[in-house]
Amino acid sequence: MQSRTDLVEDLMGRFPNVPREAVIKEDLLRGGLAFDDSALSDNEGGDVKPKSYFIFSFDHRTLPELGTAALRRPPEEIVLTGGPYDLRRTVVSVRINPDSPYRVKADDDGRLMLFLDGRAIADVGLPPMPDYYRHTLANGKQVMEVAPTIQWGYLVYLTVFRVCQYFGAKEECQYCDINHNWRQHKAAGRPYTGVKPVDEVLEALAIIDKYDTARTSTAYTLTGGSVTSKVDGLAEADFYGRYAQAIEERFPGRWIGKVVAQALPRADVQRFHDYGIRIYHPNYEVWDKRLFELYCPGKERYVGREEWHRRILESAEVFGPRNVIPNFVAGVEMAEPFGFTSVNEAIDSTAEGLQYFMSRGITPRFTTWCPEPTTPLGKTNPHGAPLEYHVRLLETYRAIMDANGLSSPPGYGPPGPGNAVFSVSSFMDTLEPNPIP
Ligand code: SF4
Repeated sequence: MQSRTDLVEDLMGRFPNVPREAVIKEDLLRGGLAFDDSALSDNEGGDVKPKSYFIFSFDHRTLPELGTAALRRPPEEIVLTGGPYDLRRTVVSVRINPDSPYRVKADDDGRLMLFLDGRAIADVGLPPMPDYYRHTLANGKQVMEVAPTIQWGYLVYLTVFRVCQYFGAKEECQYCDINHNWRQHKAAGRPYTGVKPVDEVLEALAIIDKYDTARTSTAYTLTGGSVTSKVDGLAEADFYGRYAQAIEERFPGRWIGKVVAQALPRADVQRFHDYGIRIYHPNYEVWDKRLFELYCPGKERYVGREEWHRRILESAEVFGPRNVIPNFVAGVEMAEPFGFTSVNEAIDSTAEGLQYFMSRGITPRFTTWCPEPTTPLGKTNPHGAPLEYHVRLLETYRAIMDANGLSSPPGYGPPGPGNAVFSVSSFMDTLEPNPIP
């Protein structure tokens, strides 16, 4: 049987244009990694920045099944360098899978390393605890809970609504565990605020602004579940927009404001812009029509795929096409039982969607699917999508971007292997580095 090392090295050999770093990063993101207990953080009391569970669980087990990793959290991210593949600096979001062939542990000399199939393949760096995580809000809440940062501190991730109003099997997206993640944190007695008060968000941002003296934090994302009725008496555009309005009033221009929300009608999109948002992510999730209808039943019922796409194009008239960056969940195209059964078909379909948007100046981006165990697609596909799909997608994405004269989208930090900080897919690791000014 082919080992995971054989699989990785075979793909590195067959796709030499995809950086080696990206092959390993995609494999870690799709299948997770294990941590020795000695490599875990000690939550807020330690020197390592802990995993914040910023929106989804992004784990391959539920919290009760994670044992020590649930009590002494793993780090939010790791950074890989060196080893037999001579890796350039690669930031990877941590997704725990106790059964993964990848394991982080100390070697015989006490150096923290990433092992694959028992062989050390990279040095592992851990994110230091940021100063701003050592302070709490006046009411005792942690900054990590209210305004966690990811992407090595670049992005403040504001999941201000921790649940989704698409609820239950007939409405929730079939790969999404936002509602389960909320329930499991509540059950574990962790602080996990359903709707974050605006004042708390501002207070947490003030702490970040004060202690992030290097000004590493550059952007914020406002996000959470879809709002199909109202939250706090507000429909989706005004609910998410009120945070942007308050942030921009208090800290004008301090961060690049982004929102992940539904594809809304033009008047609502205009309100996002008026509130001070600069980048809009109306995520289209999966391109194929049949799969969208099956995987996103709530979105299909309330908005519909064609209308969703029409609104994405329309929003480019408000934000400018460069600033409309819809996400898709890379890998669900191949999920059983409904997905494509060959990598070729899955790539062709995904490429069609990329060309549709990129030919209009809109640059989609993607996150690597994590098959969380409580989701319908995670249950039927515990190993996620084939690594070859993820590797070929990187090559295809870059080719379509180049063919349309586009470059890396704004608000993601620097592109290129060794430079990228975007941690939940390796698309930024695969793009051309910016020329030195
Ligand atoms: S719209 Fe879908 S992906 Fe987004 S939070 Fe709701 S269920 Fe999850």
